[in-house]
Amino acid sequence: MSPAPLEPLPDGVTAIDTMTAGMTKVTAGYLLDAPRPALVECGPALSVSSVLRALDGAGLGPGDLAYLVLSHIHLDHAGGAGDVAEAFPGATVVVSEVGARHLVEPDRLNASSRRVYGELMDTVYGDCTPVAGERVRGVADGDRIDLGGGRRLDVLYAPGHAKHHIGVFDPDAGALFVGDSVGVRLPGMTEIRPATPPPDFDLVLAQRTLQRYRSLDPRVVYLAHYGAIDPPQEALHEASERLALWAETARCAYADHSELDHVTEVLTQRFAGEMAADPDDPHSQRRVELLSGYRSNAMGLVRYFERATTGNPSS
Ligand SMILES: [Zn+2]
Repeated sequence: MSPAPLEPLPDGVTAIDTMTAGMTKVTAGYLLDAPRPALVECGPALSVSSVLRALDGAGLGPGDLAYLVLSHIHLDHAGGAGDVAEAFPGATVVVSEVGARHLVEPDRLNASSRRVYGELMDTVYGDCTPVAGERVRGVADGDRIDLGGGRRLDVLYAPGHAKHHIGVFDPDAGALFVGDSVGVRLPGMTEIRPATPPPDFDLVLAQRTLQRYRSLDPRVVYLAHYGAIDPPQEALHEASERLALWAETARCAYADHSELDHVTEVLTQRFAGEMAADPDDPHSQRRVELLSGYRSNAMGLVRYFERATTGNPSS
């Protein structure tokens, strides 16, 4: 696999296209330039060799990467963590304290991912290899990651998409890295699409996280899938409205027929139009199905409704 493309962005941020699934613009990693450089997201294990070559191309030797920051432990973000840790022996892997142990002992993470992804585990994701416990720093809301030279990242606990999700905010640049907690907007998409996967998507917490992001008044918001959304306040507001609309659509469908197939079908009918078919881009549909497919979103929402009706809701 060829090295992943590098895209210089303002404020010492470089986007690294992780070349997930061998396609461009599926999952971005973000390299932050500082005395102690950080990479935010590394993508899945199967494409991480391309990311490693990109880091080499960016001039980082094995001793140079100080942090690998993971928004959450889903394998499209964190699957390559073990390989990055091995290639950069001085790097600390920063992850929510809620998910940290799964990187040290990834058997359960790999097994549950295989149940969700099926054969895509062999073609797109691959197994996450373990990271030594002393290399993993489990973080909580309010923690800070010191990149040196006055640059830092503030950790925000950002549940909703998953209970092990964090956002990280660079207060000087006003740059907010949100993983999947705002949703996805890939090339060819006219709207931000919520990402509401099983097993622990939570609507109330997801909306609360979006509200929290808005209160930071970021100057730029970087999605993992894919790139900056602009202008930030409007985009965060849009994400919140889109999430409410998807959830309401699914809720009505579920009230009609409490069957996953039915909810999936209704979401597909309702939202198919937001994917502009680009004749020059044969991957446009495949990308979005991979990351935020109708069935996955329906499954997460249905599970959330079921939890709520069995009296075991989030907040
Ligand atoms: Zn993702």
